Amino acid sequence: MPFIPPMSEAEQVATVAARWRSQYFDTRGHCWAEIRVGSTEEIYKQLLALPSSATAADVGAIIGNDSWIGRNCQECKERRIGVWEIGEPEDYESHTVHLCTDCIQNLMDAVKAFGSSSSDV
Ligand SMILES: [Zn+2]
Repeated sequence: MPFIPPMSEAEQVATVAARWRSQYFDTRGHCWAEIRVGSTEEIYKQLLALPSSATAADVGAIIGNDSWIGRNCQECKERRIGVWEIGEPEDYESHTVHLCTDCIQNLMDAVKAFGSSSSDV
């Protein structure tokens, strides 16, 4: 698939504990990684205990930053919930573009304007 629609805020909040564990729990050594700002295991337990009504702000308050919900749009540079992944599936060397819905809409408007002006020629 050439593009992946963004997960909703609720979906991102619902999956954050599992994503955190995947990042910081060493399944071979059965131990949690250490990070500067606190216990990754304690943060995991707090994320796991979040109610289904939790928001991105609740997650940010536990982790201490907003990097686990949403992502930066490569066009407007803002951190947004609704950011599409376009191009190759993301990995360390992929050609992947992340654009928010607003920037995609601006692009579509530009394409439409270009299309109508080019058909006038
Ligand atoms: Zn944008």
